[in-house]
Amino acid sequence: MKHKSGGFALTAVGLLLFQLGGTSPANAYVRDFTVPAAGGCPQPQHQNIAIGAVPLARQWSTSLPNLNPAAIVTTSAQGTAAQLNEIEATIQQAYGIWADVSGTLVNANSFPNALGPLGRTATQNACSPDSVNGVQTGVDGVNTICFNQTSAAFTTGVLSFTRVIVADAPLQVFGSAPPSIFAGQIIDADIYFRNDGQATFATPGALATAPGAYDLESLLTHELGHVFGLDHSAVWRAIMFPFAPSPGTFFGDRPTASAPDAPLADDDRAGLHSLYPDPADTVDVGFISGRILPANPFALADFPATSPGEYVTGIFGAQVVAVDAATGSVVSATLGGWTCDAANPPQFDGSYTLGPLPIGHSYIVYAEPFVGLVQPADMAGAAAGACGTGASPPCTVPAINTNFAPRLRP
Ligand SMILES: [Zn+2]
Repeated sequence: MKHKSGGFALTAVGLLLFQLGGTSPANAYVRDFTVPAAGGCPQPQHQNIAIGAVPLARQWSTSLPNLNPAAIVTTSAQGTAAQLNEIEATIQQAYGIWADVSGTLVNANSFPNALGPLGRTATQNACSPDSVNGVQTGVDGVNTICFNQTSAAFTTGVLSFTRVIVADAPLQVFGSAPPSIFAGQIIDADIYFRNDGQATFATPGALATAPGAYDLESLLTHELGHVFGLDHSAVWRAIMFPFAPSPGTFFGDRPTASAPDAPLADDDRAGLHSLYPDPADTVDVGFISGRILPANPFALADFPATSPGEYVTGIFGAQVVAVDAATGSVVSATLGGWTCDAANPPQFDGSYTLGPLPIGHSYIVYAEPFVGLVQPADMAGAAAGACGTGASPPCTVPAINTNFAPRLRP
């Protein structure tokens, strides 16, 4: 859901929901886009992580809800310094999962201090509050995690979410945050956990003894994916899949010395590579591009052009998936459908680009509609990024097209 008011863009993404029943779809790392205030092509939203950039400012609030049973189950006793240390270690491990993806600038080994030190605050409501009449206050430029802050976003089924504040122009000022550097820059991304007793969370060490609690580490890892700029993925095993495993369960592996970025899927890694590529990386540099076109072009005729120069000439909103031909595993997937050059509004011509992907592999590519557990409504935020309310010339995003059958690339 995207709002825009008073010259700045606010995007609230990342609602992590209770698990639903149903069958698995395949596929997608997905990014969100911001249309620059000055016009031009939509820019992928990401943090100012670049060589020479200031370290990512981050903290967490040690204020915990006073509930019985406990909101956050730990092996350490409730209300002790040891409990705070245990929660902090879980936060650090979740950050480390992303930082240990090789070949990105988030990797702490790529250059010094990509991530600043993780601070603590005793302030209960340290995260940006809900906006009122479209006006957002409390933006401080510090990426904060809150366990005891209420929000109207906690509707039924929402476990946690990330509020992302994005600049749509350079030198934009939000609250006490430093001015932005570029359009699409994430200025502030705060993570909120439900605190009303409707859900409880457990650290990895306590999960086995807390069958009613959700796994805190994987929820944190998911929300940190939003902090870094990723939207939801329809790949079942991706950490950015929008639905959490059932209470008391955890899918995949915990990070280890030999697999420090577990339990991320290749799709998650591809997403991080796309936003923060390390110029020194020589492995993850492959791209696959193409267009998804209907067999019968008149199948698209029900969408009229809504502004001059804007046409729908291909399938918009297909899930385009790359599978490693040797292993059969899904490597990456994306929300396909549009392209842009600076002189025109986005063209909905079915274009897609997958990557960067590891070179030296063969890939099978297929396209499929969003008709599984993840529905078009789950991808609406990402789809909306192709246009913006301030886009010039104006632009209207067509509906996600589900009126086609899965198809292998010939
Ligand atoms: Zn999410």
